[in-house]
Amino acid sequence: MLCLARSSFGSVQIAIGHQGGDAETPSFTFTNVPPPARSDAATTATFTLLAGTADPNGGRLDTLHDGKLPGEADSPAENFFLADGTPGGMIAVDLGRPIEIKQVNTYSCHPSTRGPQVYTLYAADEGAAGFNARPEKNAELEKSGWKRIASVDTRPTNGDPAGGQYGVSISDSTGSLGKYRHLLFDLTPTETDDTFGHTFYSEIDVVEPNAPVEPVTAVTAAPLVIHTADGYAEITINTAKAPELKDWAEQKLAPALSEWYPKMVAMMPSDGFSCPKKFSVTLQPGSGVAYTAGTRIVVNSTWLGSQLKGEAVGSIIHEAVHVAQQYGGGRRNGHPAPGWFTEGLPDYIRFFKFEPQTHGADLIWLRRHMPRNLNYDGLYRISANFLNYVVEHYDADQTLIKKVNAACRQGRYTDEIWKEITGKPLAELNDEWKAAVREPTAPKAAANGGAATNQPKSE
Ligand SMILES: [Zn+2]
Repeated sequence: MLCLARSSFGSVQIAIGHQGGDAETPSFTFTNVPPPARSDAATTATFTLLAGTADPNGGRLDTLHDGKLPGEADSPAENFFLADGTPGGMIAVDLGRPIEIKQVNTYSCHPSTRGPQVYTLYAADEGAAGFNARPEKNAELEKSGWKRIASVDTRPTNGDPAGGQYGVSISDSTGSLGKYRHLLFDLTPTETDDTFGHTFYSEIDVVEPNAPVEPVTAVTAAPLVIHTADGYAEITINTAKAPELKDWAEQKLAPALSEWYPKMVAMMPSDGFSCPKKFSVTLQPGSGVAYTAGTRIVVNSTWLGSQLKGEAVGSIIHEAVHVAQQYGGGRRNGHPAPGWFTEGLPDYIRFFKFEPQTHGADLIWLRRHMPRNLNYDGLYRISANFLNYVVEHYDADQTLIKKVNAACRQGRYTDEIWKEITGKPLAELNDEWKAAVREPTAPKAAANGGAATNQPKSE
């Protein structure tokens, strides 16, 4: 832990709090910086990005004053940050009316160099001479009616790791920074060694004198920890950010994962490799459907909530296959697994093993959603249907999936493998499968314009 008040600017005081690793707390607790407030003068203020580009993977500007903190150390959607590789930017805060300001507090969080904060704070009132509420980046702000309040730089100078939670509190020895309606944060990247130097800002508070400060209630709901039916793996299901899904996660999701993860592991063995024995599923508001990073599955709880009787469990079964795949080794040694198999296998296991009754990728589905260019590498359900065809016609001893999976994981995959296993080259299998899909018994496929790409997609 590092706590220091290391610079002052006139009578302005800057207190810096930093916690890394195990010292981090869900409520951003620092010894010398006040805790983030649930409600303060910034809560109802208008935040505007005056200069710079927001990163599309980050949260909206409003995450900066929603009274909520990120639930994880690296949580792009719950922080605001500028786009990778762009220069700095400026955020304007319009408090709606001039108010006496006791403190401006800023909080950030990232496991690496995007944790620290580097910015200059300006303040202004409309009455100031020559005031311009929307100055250009690099304009001489002090000539546009803005007063420089403080320059903040929390990067450790003693060689400590930069990652962790940071809190900054800007105040004045007189008890008031002044009476202002407008604030402006001129943001600078913490480093330009790579393109990932923009701080993950979590929350900005503006505190009035004598205003009651209610700390943010940290998200501390204990996650559900289950074990697979065979005891092989431990699965953590986190619904703290989506409490409305807690019961569903316990009653529907947990039993499905407990039963099916071991089946995936059995379907995907390879020499010298064990599928992960631990992984997590986090349900939280976000965009898109779901993604898997290593052993971490993150699912958009808003989408999930609309799919409890539809795609919900199946989409997470798909992601769990990604956890078992672990094809990164192949990628690292220059022979990445083909994308169509990487995404086709999860949908094959999902739709042909886990929930065939939904007809989500079989001939019924495919003929109804016939893509214009039907091909084995059409990803997801299309590739799944191709895999099923080859398994049904050329895989009497049920080893095809195991062999292709092992080759992908070990960086040995080439298209030759199909001929080795089935006796027929991939192109020929593809033609045969396409002909079977288009058998005369099929309804006139082209008459149905629905494209496969309209289906909800997960990664
Ligand atoms: Zn996927």
